Amino acid sequence: MENENPIENTLKDVELFLKQQVEIFGEQFFLPERNESQSTPSTSGSATGARGESAGQASNGGDQLKTKTIRIKDDRELFQGAVVRPEWKIDPHWSESDSLEKLDSAISKCVRCGLGATRKNFVFGVGNPNAKLVLIGEAPGADEDDQGEPFVGRAGQLLNKILAAVELRREDVYICNILKCRPPNNRDPLPEEAEACEPYLKKQLEIIKPKIILCLGRIAGQTLLKTNATLTELRKSTYEYEGIKVLVTFHPAALLRNPNWKRPAWEDVQKMRKMYDEL
Ligand code: SF4
Repeated sequence: MENENPIENTLKDVELFLKQQVEIFGEQFFLPERNESQSTPSTSGSATGARGESAGQASNGGDQLKTKTIRIKDDRELFQGAVVRPEWKIDPHWSESDSLEKLDSAISKCVRCGLGATRKNFVFGVGNPNAKLVLIGEAPGADEDDQGEPFVGRAGQLLNKILAAVELRREDVYICNILKCRPPNNRDPLPEEAEACEPYLKKQLEIIKPKIILCLGRIAGQTLLKTNATLTELRKSTYEYEGIKVLVTFHPAALLRNPNWKRPAWEDVQKMRKMYDEL
């Protein structure tokens, strides 16, 4: 006989739902929220959450377990930003790619690190596949994640102007990031994320064969060169990565925040142009 207690019925529904989710997606993607408030559980099984989504609630003693069960707009919402794509995987032969197009297509569904689950778009890189100069940032930001292209938006426009000031066009150089996916809230890349993604950057460089790398920003310089040196220190020297000369300068977004840095950035870019002319 059907249990008449609405709370127990709701609990059974929640338990069944959770079992189904764990079966489909695995335990690592089940992220329950503990709700410490004392609000009365909804007997209809739905309530409106802070972001407007509906949620089922069940009471277990004084502790309430809240799970989003109803009218989920997409799985990104359900899994708190993480999109689960069990079918996503890289081509196991990606490292044999002999062109940027083939490499892009082989790795664009990468989920090697957690950022694969939270990105909107994989941001491979853009520009001249035979460029002598490669510009490398740390990771895509919000605009880049939206558009799938590195250095777009205001920082990208400023970068285009900086290049034009030394008579280079965006299409003359190659532009990419150390990470191909955006870290949530633009946080710094984690060491394990950089480690997981670095083989792709190395393969890009192997295909392009540039002579100079210009790292844009302290984080890009520190991550690529595996150092904790400050930007001031990094800007003083020329380094080497995979046999390629490396210079480090300011990130264009930093120049937007502090125009006083434009003069030292200009000096860095002139140094890079001189090195470029001597190739
Ligand atoms: S950041 Fe790099 S390693 Fe991580 S999922 Fe994206 S492409 Fe893969």
